[in-house]
Amino acid sequence: MRKRREIKNEIRWQMPSLSVNEGLARAMVAAFCAQVKPTATEIADIKCAVSEAVTNCTVHAYRDTVGEIRITARLLGDGNGGTSVEVEIKDKGCGIPDVACARQPLYTTDAEGERSGMGFTVMESFCDGVNVSSRIGRGTTVTLLKRLHK
Ligand code: ATP
Ligand code: MG
Repeated sequence: MRKRREIKNEIRWQMPSLSVNEGLARAMVAAFCAQVKPTATEIADIKCAVSEAVTNCTVHAYRDTVGEIRITARLLGDGNGGTSVEVEIKDKGCGIPDVACARQPLYTTDAEGERSGMGFTVMESFCDGVNVSSRIGRGTTVTLLKRLHK
C-alpha cells in the first residue's frame, strides 16, 4: 500500500504578475528548499520549472493586464525518509482551452514569434511530475513535483 505523503513544511504567497517577480519566485522556492539540503542540480531544476510556470502567468494568463499569482510550496515526506517539493502556481487569468494540446512541444499561441512553445516540455523534463488544470475564463493551476535526494 502506498504511504500517505506527510507535509513537513509549507509556504504560500501571492504576487502581481509583473515580470520582475519571476526571479523572486525562483529565489523563494530555492530558499525554501534549502532547509533539506538539496543538490545544486535539484535546485537548478526546480527553479527553471518555476520560472517557466510563472512566466506563463505573466505572458499568457494575464496577457494584457496584471493579475494575481498565488504560489504554494510544500516539502513532502514519502514515509521512507525521502523528501519531495511540490510547487503549485495558480492564476485567475484566461485559462487554456486544450491543455493536452498546450503541453505538446513547440505548441505556442504567441503571435509575435518570441516564444518557442517549450515551457511545459521544460517543466516536464526538469520535474518528476507536472499537473495542469485549467478552465477557460477562470484560470490555471500548474503543480510541479520534484524529488529531492534521489
Ligand atoms: P515558451 O514557454 O517556450 O516561451 P510558450 O509559453 O508559448 O513558449 P508553453 O509554456 O509550453 O509555451 O505554453 C504553451 C501554451 O500554453 C502557451 O502558448 C499558451 O497558449 C498556453 N498557456 C501556458 N500557460 C498558460 C497560462 N497560465 N494561462 C493561459 N495560457 C497558458
Ligand atoms: Mg511558456
